[in-house]
Amino acid sequence: MTPDAAPAAPPRPAIVLASGGLDSTTCLAIAKADGYGPVYTMAFDYGQRHRHELAAAERVARHYGVAEHRVVTIDLRQFGRSALTDDALAVPKNRDEAAMAAGVPVTYVPARNTIFLSYALAWAEVLKADDVFVGVNALDYSGYPDCRPEYVAAFQAMARLGTERTNFTVRAPLVHLSKAEIIRLGTGLGIDYGMTHSCYDPIVRGAGSDADVLACGRCDSCLLRKKGFAEAGVPDPTRYA
Ligand code: ZN
Repeated sequence: MTPDAAPAAPPRPAIVLASGGLDSTTCLAIAKADGYGPVYTMAFDYGQRHRHELAAAERVARHYGVAEHRVVTIDLRQFGRSALTDDALAVPKNRDEAAMAAGVPVTYVPARNTIFLSYALAWAEVLKADDVFVGVNALDYSGYPDCRPEYVAAFQAMARLGTERTNFTVRAPLVHLSKAEIIRLGTGLGIDYGMTHSCYDPIVRGAGSDADVLACGRCDSCLLRKKGFAEAGVPDPTRYA
């Protein structure tokens, strides 16, 4: 070693929960920008209504050159009760902000973030990683109870008690940001949001490799995303039907 050679920085492994959406992609860019590495991504094939978000998660993971992109298969469809896991329930469209604020919507998937974070925690123990990033957001969050800061803190406390990762930390860097603030932050980090997918109920034209996946533009997720780009003053790259 030459006298002025700096010692290599110790690894800071992190896992990012990846849905292919705007929030989780911003978390991945933040983890990279903050010097975490190696960075791993974890997505879930949980019986959701459509698989386009899995394709988007893989696309984003590849773009960022993550150490490993893991897709976990679990069946939340067996419980149903969410419009995202039960075809008998329609995804609500064109709801205004008052309707969105009125309670937990039918797109809420029972205990989803607890299940996802538990899988990430298990992988974190194996990887000896202390940091898991999750793109939960308490402002523009559709009223899901497992997106609140109190929830994040409680999961972290449980994880420290229940595993060997006594410094385990749930990183939720977007929890207090509006969608517009998230978009401005991510745009500053160079994210191309055109590769992300947020729509709960996309419209597919054509088939096979030529299929064109368009956002519906009317579900809660599309409406929050549209409003976010408009408020941020950033052009919306989403292709709407
Ligand atoms: Zn939509």
